[in-house]
Amino acid sequence: MAEAELMDGNLVAQQVRKGLKDEIAAAVAAGGRRPCLAVIRVGEDPASAVYVRNKRRAAEAIGMESRETHLPAEVSESALLEEVRRLNQDPSVDGVLVQLPLPRHLSPDRVLEVLDPEKDVDGLTVTNLGRLCAGEPYLVPCTPRGILTLLDHYQVPLAGRRAVVVGRSRLVGLPVALLLLQRNASVSIVHSRTPDPAAYAREAEVLVVAAGRRHLVGPDWVRPGATVIDVGIHRTEDGLAGDVDYERVRTVAGRITPVPGGVGPMTVAMLLANTWTAYRRRQGPTDGAIPR
Ligand code: NAP
Repeated sequence: MAEAELMDGNLVAQQVRKGLKDEIAAAVAAGGRRPCLAVIRVGEDPASAVYVRNKRRAAEAIGMESRETHLPAEVSESALLEEVRRLNQDPSVDGVLVQLPLPRHLSPDRVLEVLDPEKDVDGLTVTNLGRLCAGEPYLVPCTPRGILTLLDHYQVPLAGRRAVVVGRSRLVGLPVALLLLQRNASVSIVHSRTPDPAAYAREAEVLVVAAGRRHLVGPDWVRPGATVIDVGIHRTEDGLAGDVDYERVRTVAGRITPVPGGVGPMTVAMLLANTWTAYRRRQGPTDGAIPR
C-alpha cells in the first residue's frame, strides 16, 4: 500500500532553531544585547507550567534571555495589566506573551488590548491580525506561521491550488487561511456549522485540520495524494493523538504531519522566530523592510 511522505516537524523546527541560534550568536558577537522573551504565567495550571518551561528552555538553548513573571491565581485584572504595561516599557524585553488559559475572572482580550503589538510574539493582538488581513503581516500567530514554514520546507505548491482549512479560530484556522490565500491558494474554510465538511475536504490539495476533535478526519475526507496538516492535540491513554486518523489517512494522503512531531514543534520554533523578528525591528533603523 502506498504511504504518505511524513512531514517531520521536529526536523524542520530544529533547522529553524539552529538558524536563529547562529544569527543571535553573530548579533551578540557584534556587541548587541541578547533578545529577551518574557512570559507571564498566572496560577498553578500544571500544563501551563510545562508549556512555559519548554518555551523558556527553547529560548535559552538558542542564546535568548528568558524571563518569567508568575502571578497568583487570584491576581486582580488591574495587577495583571500593570505587569503587561511594565514589560511593554522595559527596553530590554523584545517579546511578551501571557500563557493561556487564564483563570476565569481574567480576560485574555483585555490583556491583548494592553499588550504592545511590537512585542506581541503570539501575533494575537488586533493590530497584528489586522496587518495580516491587510496583506502586510508582521508578527504572525505561531502555529499558522509554523504550518507555512513546514509547507515551504517540503516544497508543497500553493499558488493556484485548492486549500481547505477545517476550523476558523483566531489562533489557528483564520490566520492560516489568510496566509494560504496570500500565497495564492484558493481557500475554503469549514467549521461546525458547515453541512458535510468532508465534501469540501475531499476537494483539497492542501488540507489543514484545526478542529479540536480527535480523529475527525478519516480517509473518506482526503483526496488521494493531498497534503494533510494535522494541528489537533489530544491527550489519550495511548499518548498524543491528532484531529486526523493518522494510521488510516496516511495510506491515502501524499504528505502528512504526525502527532506528535508535526505542527507542535513548529509552534515553539516560530515563537522564537517571532521574538527574533521583534528584536531586530526594535534594534532601530533598518532599510525600511519589515524583518521576517
Ligand atoms: P478552537 O478555538 O476550539 O476552534 C476549533 C474550530 O474547529 C472552530 O472554528 C470550530 O467551528 C471548528 N470545528 C469544530 N468541530 C468541527 C467539525 N466537526 N467540523 C468542522 N469544524 C469543526 O480550537 P483551536 O484553538 O483552533 O485549536 C484546534 C486544535 O488544535 C485543538 O486540538 C488544539 O489543542 C490544537 N492546537 C495545536 C497547536 C499546536 O501547536 N500543534 C496550537 C494551537 C492549537 P466553530 O467556529 O463553528 O465553533
